[in-house]
Amino acid sequence: MGVLDDLYQSAILDHSRHPRNHGELDEHHVAQEGLNPSCGDELTLYLRVDGGRVAAASFVGEGCAISQAASSLMTEAITGLELAAAHELAQRFKAMIRGLGADESLGESRVLQGIAKLPARVKCATLPWVTLELALSRFTERAD
Ligand code: ZN
Repeated sequence: MGVLDDLYQSAILDHSRHPRNHGELDEHHVAQEGLNPSCGDELTLYLRVDGGRVAAASFVGEGCAISQAASSLMTEAITGLELAAAHELAQRFKAMIRGLGADESLGESRVLQGIAKLPARVKCATLPWVTLELALSRFTERAD
């Protein structure tokens, strides 16, 4: 248990210090801002959509280690997914953070499941996923 916690901790630190997919996408279809006022976390999420799939995802933003790591992990998790699958993954992530268990499809994002025990940090971890839901709904509206 302790070793696992340490591994999770180091994965979170690694993603917060060296975020993947950080920076604005040159070519994107959606740029969505997200804000967590309770901690001061903010991010802009960029999505490039091709053939109904997330062809590329990136973010810029500032905030605590949890929000940065969660954003980095999320961009990796959703790249290549169909838009509906990305939306579903957001539901699974939020369920995990509510303490309902971690689905395997969340991949490395499961390192954040301990946040379920830290209510004050829940909004930090869910910020990128809530922002993703906004981005997806805006994109779907526009495509209709
Ligand atoms: Zn935060």
